[in-house]
Amino acid sequence: MANITKKRIAIIGAGPCGLSQLIAFKQAEKEQRIELICFERQAEWGGLWQYTALTGIDPCGELIHSSMYRHLWTNGPKEMLEYVDYPFEKHFGRAVSSYPPRAIMYDYIIGRATAADIHKFIRFRTAVRFVNFDVNTKQFHVTIQDLLNEKILEHLTFDHVIVATGHYTLPNVPNFEGISKFPGRVLHSHDYRGADEFVDKNILIIGGSYSAEDIGIQCYKFGARSITISYRSFPMNFKWPDNIKEVPMLIRMEGHTAYFKDGTSVDNIDCIILCTGYRHNHSYMAEPLRLYCSGNLFIPSNLYKGIFWSPELRLAYLGMQNQTYSLNMFDIQAALVRDVFLGYVKLPDDDDEKKREEDISQWQAREQVIAANDHEGFTDLQTDYIRDIVSCCDQNTVPKFDLERAKAGFYKFFNDKREDFITFRDQTFTSIFPPYNEAPPCQIKWTKNMDDSIEGYLSSIKTT
Ligand code: FAD
Ligand code: NAP
Ligand code: MG
Repeated sequence: MANITKKRIAIIGAGPCGLSQLIAFKQAEKEQRIELICFERQAEWGGLWQYTALTGIDPCGELIHSSMYRHLWTNGPKEMLEYVDYPFEKHFGRAVSSYPPRAIMYDYIIGRATAADIHKFIRFRTAVRFVNFDVNTKQFHVTIQDLLNEKILEHLTFDHVIVATGHYTLPNVPNFEGISKFPGRVLHSHDYRGADEFVDKNILIIGGSYSAEDIGIQCYKFGARSITISYRSFPMNFKWPDNIKEVPMLIRMEGHTAYFKDGTSVDNIDCIILCTGYRHNHSYMAEPLRLYCSGNLFIPSNLYKGIFWSPELRLAYLGMQNQTYSLNMFDIQAALVRDVFLGYVKLPDDDDEKKREEDISQWQAREQVIAANDHEGFTDLQTDYIRDIVSCCDQNTVPKFDLERAKAGFYKFFNDKREDFITFRDQTFTSIFPPYNEAPPCQIKWTKNMDDSIEGYLSSIKTT
């Protein structure tokens, strides 16, 4: 095929979503149908799964991307996110238990990318600064900055752009009366790097979601004196150990004392960790292309099938929804982007913006009636969403797994947490695609497991 017919495709970000997209496009690139470039502002791939001890700004003056911390274990079973074409067992050469630590996840994610030989498509230390669209030429103009070589700006054109920049980096930092005068340490979960500095401390955590529960339990595991978790909407209501308690919303701080909405107070707070979530930031997109997403939604506005920018369907956003499913959902989204951009399938209503909006609105209406603490409800919604996008893909190539098994796996996971939050990571799960293997248990209970290295973790798995 002559070069002139090649479509030029840009991917922004080499985190899990960008890597899924590169792998999905690899075959078409080999067949010389497309030119493929992925821009990544960090020095390495893997997105958030790369751990760095740094907080604030990196050596190139960029905001530190990752919100990962030491001793982070996955907060859901690995079976529910496993790549269909690349099982954990294939990567590690042995069966892996259901809740691995971050290092295992990182090794697994970049292991698949390495095996797929996609490193060559990535321009590292290159930040995308601006993306615009020319409605006459139907071309995207992408302005990039080389962060290593004197920061020269370059302008490139593309037929398609895929945004895969993540949305768990920019902290959402609410203000509370008296917090600016609090004499102890205040940080957001984005800057939390481990529990060591909180040993013997009285901690106040603000937030009632995954960061609050995980940082709270980790501080407990490593020896914090007391942990008070202040929620806004709903208590998590887990059976916490004695030195963790949940209280309603923080009203004000006075010195080291925290006052809550129910009139109670806690003295001697040493540090406050804001686990108040993250904000989307797509300021590098020109206004008509920019996704605005307040909060953490399962169905963001303007994204047809949760992916395609409506009205300009040549632009896609990957992984922008709140995630019950993660890696395996990114693979399916990437498959649909490939199929649509290369003309392998036609999207329903690709020529009717009104119908697309109706489709988005129907999904949003469904999300709106799910209570914020109804995890099963959100799982049902995202399971149906995946079923919908799978049905739009080329059926011969879309990665498939058993959605009913996945849903049942998530339900079991939520039950395990409710039954005993301290032991839920000791449970095992069955794979959601053939041959449906049951994971072996980890011999060291999670509360006692202080070794989050790959070697330490693998050696603690019982194999028969
Ligand atoms: P990211 O991983 O954030 O990657 C985005 C990439 O885009 C980054 O490499 C970034 O440098 C790059 N980028 C951004 N802007 C630009 C730009 N302008 N130019 C060039 N490059 C750019 N999920 C799970 O499934 N299980 C878990 O246990 C789990 N734990 C988590 C723990 C924490 C603390 C957090 C914050 C998230 C966790 N997640 C977990 C969710 C996690 O976000 C996803 O698993 C996954 O990393 C999302 O991939 P992504 O590619 O969308 O985004
Ligand atoms: P999140 O799920 O968006 O939750 C944000 C929390 O902050 C919510 O409880 C919200 O309360 C609260 N909040 C927001 N604004 C507030 C305000 N003004 N005052 C008080 N409370 C406020 O964010 P997250 O918990 O940081 O999780 C982000 C992602 O990281 C998730 O995908 C999660 O799975 C992942 N994560 C994983 C792990 C792991 O163990 N592997 C650990 C941490 C995080 P409302 O409910 O009232 O809105
Ligand atoms: Mg159009």
